[in-house]
Amino acid sequence: MASSKNSIPFDRSSDSPQSPARSTGEIHVIVGPMFAGKTTALLRRIKSERDSGRNVAMIKSSKDTRYAIDSVVTHDGVKFPCWALPDLSLFRENYGHDSYEKLDVIGIDEAQFFDDLYDFCCKAADNDGKTVIIAGLDGDYLRRNFGSVLHIIPLADTVTKLTARCEVCGKRAFFTWRKTQQTQTELIGGADVYMPVCRYHYVNGQAAMEAARSFRECRKVKSDSLMEEAPIV
Ligand SMILES: [Zn+2]
Repeated sequence: MASSKNSIPFDRSSDSPQSPARSTGEIHVIVGPMFAGKTTALLRRIKSERDSGRNVAMIKSSKDTRYAIDSVVTHDGVKFPCWALPDLSLFRENYGHDSYEKLDVIGIDEAQFFDDLYDFCCKAADNDGKTVIIAGLDGDYLRRNFGSVLHIIPLADTVTKLTARCEVCGKRAFFTWRKTQQTQTELIGGADVYMPVCRYHYVNGQAAMEAARSFRECRKVKSDSLMEEAPIV
């Protein structure tokens, strides 16, 4: 980048030890399809911040009650205590104003469920000096923008897109396929309702469903027949 003769050097005198400024906030975004390990990645970062002596808090949407109301739980069962709230604007009051002041890092799981995500992240990082780490779906089962997670991208320091494994072919999966015929955007469910798929199998979704179903049935038949044959062997 070309330097300009007229550029004014940034005055860092206010950063002197005599006037300790509030630490600068950060925003980190983790997106991807379902089963990509977003919550696991978020928990790993929150625990790492906690282990390095920073005050951390975790928030999740009270809409998601799949595993536990007061914990963030990964698909493989790892738990972390959290605040389950319908809106992020309620966090400060629920957490306590004094406690909020002492807080360094805020984790937000399933961020697509919070309509006030942009305003909350903006204030927490810009004004309050918090590090905010959010995890959420970037797209819904129709690959459309889901909630306000993508609105945060222009605010973010870093964006990480994780991938899952395609349930049909095992290649990298970028999308979430809905197995049921229900059409509402917010249909909360796990592996009974959703599966991660690669681009090919998203486009050929119906065939993917059939393939996955016959694969499962085939495996079941095989295991049943193995059990039957076992006494003979
Ligand atoms: Zn595939």
